[in-house]
Amino acid sequence: MPQHERYPVLEIDTQAIYSNAKAIVQLCKEQGIDVAGVFKGVNGIAGIGAVLEDAGCHQIASSRIDQLAAYKRLSPQTQTMLLRLPMASEVPFLPLGVDISLNSERSTLQLIDGVFRCENRLHRVVLMMDLGDLREGFFDEEELIETALWVEWELEHVELEGIGVNLGCYGSIKPTEENLSHLVDIARRIEAKIERKLNIVSGGATSSLPLVYDGKMPQGINHLRIGEGILLNMDLPVYWDVMHPALTDDTMRLKAQIIEIKNKPSMPIGEIFIDAFGHTPIYIDKGTRKRALIGLGKQDFAMEDKLLPMTQGMSIIGSSSDHLIVDLTECSEDFKVGDVVAFRIFYGPMLHLCTQQGVEKKLL
Ligand SMILES: *Cc1c(COP(=O)(O)O)cnc(C)c1O
Repeated sequence: MPQHERYPVLEIDTQAIYSNAKAIVQLCKEQGIDVAGVFKGVNGIAGIGAVLEDAGCHQIASSRIDQLAAYKRLSPQTQTMLLRLPMASEVPFLPLGVDISLNSERSTLQLIDGVFRCENRLHRVVLMMDLGDLREGFFDEEELIETALWVEWELEHVELEGIGVNLGCYGSIKPTEENLSHLVDIARRIEAKIERKLNIVSGGATSSLPLVYDGKMPQGINHLRIGEGILLNMDLPVYWDVMHPALTDDTMRLKAQIIEIKNKPSMPIGEIFIDAFGHTPIYIDKGTRKRALIGLGKQDFAMEDKLLPMTQGMSIIGSSSDHLIVDLTECSEDFKVGDVVAFRIFYGPMLHLCTQQGVEKKLL
């Protein structure tokens, strides 16, 4: 192992992400759907944004203005999309880097109109409809339609780009032909009133991809906002049992170094009270086990149950702020202190690892 290697390191295979993005953009294109490539999960790493763009994503999207503004400085011609409804305090910063934002509040739209009036520029908005997931969006369809007409006819510096929905983020509601057809119906009603087509009817995120794979996406949905499915492609294969053959789930590897290996009992000794986070875990007595301590912890990955060891037989026992404890008893490999072990990761750890200063991000 070269001496200069620093751990933990998150290795990001840009070629694999490119090939996932390219495949998803192509599948969507065949069904008349544009893709916004979402890079908030990697803390807006510009190199990843560039990969998404090269692969044909129509916009680069994030929930955070600072990530979009930084990207815009490097690539002024890129269309950017803000995914979280802008807070009043950040509306003045929209002109720095956001072309399109998702919205659901008139007062915010009014503020946006004012800011872009001062700039003598236009801002495009996608109005969000809540179809049951209960995070953002108008819950009342008539109110969304009235607001759309108000934007179209009354706001001079805000353009109605389209409508959209978010599903499966809070309420775990599955995108279906029924709920997405409803979104298309609403779009058609607005179009009939404004006498033009909406540019965007945005049918959700990664969780909407199975409808695309099955050719069941309702006609009229012409836009999706995809992050996880491109960056990791772990959720659909693992939680939905949907594995598209053109996609890989080997886009990122977390590598960290072993700092201790010892045989220890599996039951803590003494009176069991609470752990570092105020919880009392259940410990199962499996006798003496060969355990390794690895130099990273909850501060880096937040959730140890969303890490998958890539070593056969290795299992995760637990973690604290700065330590991960694994069981090596069933591993055939003969690990030593200083050895490096690798993990696949789900979305939660990706998000935390990418914002963590002490974790090196290595683009391969
Ligand atoms: C994060 C986000 C997305 C992307 O979600 P993925 O599951 O990563 O594809 C899309 N839309 C909105 C509004 C988001 O906040």
